Amino acid sequence: MAQNTTAQTTFSALREQLLAEIGTTTTVEQIRLNGNDPTTIVPFTDYLEEVSLHYSELLSLPYTKCNGDGCVACKISNAVTKKYLMPVYLPLTKTIGVLPISESKKNGKLLPQILTKVTPDTFGYPMSITSLVQHTFGLVVHPSPLKDFDKLQEIEVFLEQLNSGSVKLDSIYKSMTNEELAQQESVKTRLEILGLA
Ligand SMILES: [Zn+2]
Repeated sequence: MAQNTTAQTTFSALREQLLAEIGTTTTVEQIRLNGNDPTTIVPFTDYLEEVSLHYSELLSLPYTKCNGDGCVACKISNAVTKKYLMPVYLPLTKTIGVLPISESKKNGKLLPQILTKVTPDTFGYPMSITSLVQHTFGLVVHPSPLKDFDKLQEIEVFLEQLNSGSVKLDSIYKSMTNEELAQQESVKTRLEILGLA
């Protein structure tokens, strides 16, 4: 049966809808460290979030969040990778970004360097991260704090959003429900082989 696809609306109704959407969806960018340029970050908070992820060539997404109890990716014995998510100020784009940090504490990894160099005393100090060989990094703390760091509106707004829960750091990763995971052809086959389908 043919559907009536036209409906009346008004500019003000549309505007209200748009404003409501903007107001409720705050997104944060994932910081991707690359080999070409150092990435300059400015830490401003002690806040860290821990996230459990699955990375699998069987899945259609590069990373998907672990669903916890009953997680289908766990059922097919896919390894869980833990990452710490750190919100930082990015002076070059004047935005807040999320830096994913692997849990490895080995020499040259990011976590031990962040843990020793980021303290409340260095909040506001620009730090440059350079990608080195074999997924290692160099982290240099610059000698003076960012100009007018105390007056940055972006940080103030972000912290309010974080406190109210309107921004979620782990939104940088996609998630799939257990049903969606189980519908993936290769996952389905693996579940059948394991006798779990
Ligand atoms: Zn899982």
